[in-house]
Amino acid sequence: MSTIKFFSTNGHPEGVDFREALLQGQAPDKGLYMPEQIPQLPVGNILQFPGKSYPEIAYQVIKPYLGDLVADSALQAMLQDAYNYPVPVEKVYEGKYILRLDRGPTCSFKDFAARTMARLMQYFLTEEGKNIVILTATSGDTGSAVAQAFYGLENIKVVVLFPETEVTARQRRQMTTLGKNVFPLAVAGKFDDCQALVKQAFADPELSSLDLSSANSINIGRLLPQAVYYFYAQSRVAVEGQPVVFSVPSGNFGDLMGGLIAQRMGLPVHRFVVATNDNDEFPGFMKTGVYEPIRPSRNCISNAMNVGHPSNLARVFALYGGQMDESGRIGRRPDIPAMRKDLYAISISDEETRRTIKEAYLQYRVLLEPHGAVGWAGLMKYLDDCGDWSPCVSLETADPAKFPEEIVRATGVNPVLPPAMSRLDELSEQYGKMGNDYSGLKNYLLHLA
Ligand SMILES: *Cc1c(COP(=O)(O)O)cnc(C)c1O
Repeated sequence: MSTIKFFSTNGHPEGVDFREALLQGQAPDKGLYMPEQIPQLPVGNILQFPGKSYPEIAYQVIKPYLGDLVADSALQAMLQDAYNYPVPVEKVYEGKYILRLDRGPTCSFKDFAARTMARLMQYFLTEEGKNIVILTATSGDTGSAVAQAFYGLENIKVVVLFPETEVTARQRRQMTTLGKNVFPLAVAGKFDDCQALVKQAFADPELSSLDLSSANSINIGRLLPQAVYYFYAQSRVAVEGQPVVFSVPSGNFGDLMGGLIAQRMGLPVHRFVVATNDNDEFPGFMKTGVYEPIRPSRNCISNAMNVGHPSNLARVFALYGGQMDESGRIGRRPDIPAMRKDLYAISISDEETRRTIKEAYLQYRVLLEPHGAVGWAGLMKYLDDCGDWSPCVSLETADPAKFPEEIVRATGVNPVLPPAMSRLDELSEQYGKMGNDYSGLKNYLLHLA
């Protein structure tokens, strides 16, 4: 089987295979890796998905990108192991569904990508007898998903920097109660400071012997696993090849990119609702054709979506024939009419988000958290605006118990802690503390090896 090559969205002439793209993270010219062509799944295979399990569908979706880089049996075992939790599709009312992506070990949809990426990285590293250090900065959900996903894997140490006072106690505990190969560091600074420290470490030649690698959302290894749940959901709600509408609560647009890749692979999708919070740079672009990043980003209650310039927008542009660099500068305009046909972009305010949490509970007894509520509100606006008889699936990206204050306020209900989180309070925490200075981090990393 021939292996698909991945090319940078910034135009670097040389392509790499999946293994390289995964271990490098970012292309040398700071662009994002995209497959040179998106493989099509045979229609006959897709029609069989209603009878397949989640790991079986994952295998068929991911395999074409790997060629012979990973043995079939190893890939199947990895996916069985990664997706050992339920993926509920809940009916809200006739033809309208919520896809719950919050049942993984850290209770956000970030688990879907992080768990497969971690296993693939370990597979390649074991083959080569190499060791690496994953260095990542987090504002909350990514750090815990990555730490959990790499927890206990050989060949890999994980160092997570988080802003000491900006993560919730539950988010912190999801990282600090693991131990083994996971090393959390509380930084006396903001998320931006953590990110700056990480960038400095990547650029430091004296750390090159450590083989630092990144696990942030620009890695193609985090994107492909996110195409899988779109196939899974369609197979559970639609008949035959019936197209579906998906509503995606969006921040960095990694989740949306998974859906767009699924569509290009042959999944029948009628429309994507791209629902953002007040960080409305993309809905603005779709309306006016002018792109203006929001700096600094606006603080909304759906805090994982507080992104003023989505890094994966460069990939969305690439799919529609455009080119955007990492700063948001447009080199070539995409086909905007084609984008408008596929994507309905809408911004939802905090006030609407809170009202949606309340109404979904009162009307349907469905508990949504702020991110999922942005998605559901976006879907309701789309249906009012355009009307559509396709089955509709709105993505719920986190467990309501991660945001108890907002849920209690809107509904009076205190969300039940899932088992993965209820044990957290009993475990003891271990983490380092550092000031906001680079020499402290460098010393720490040099002594870790
Ligand atoms: C990361 C995140 C999002 C946004 O996903 P993107 O891929 O960045 O668009 C939405 N909801 C939750 C709970 C998240 O953690």
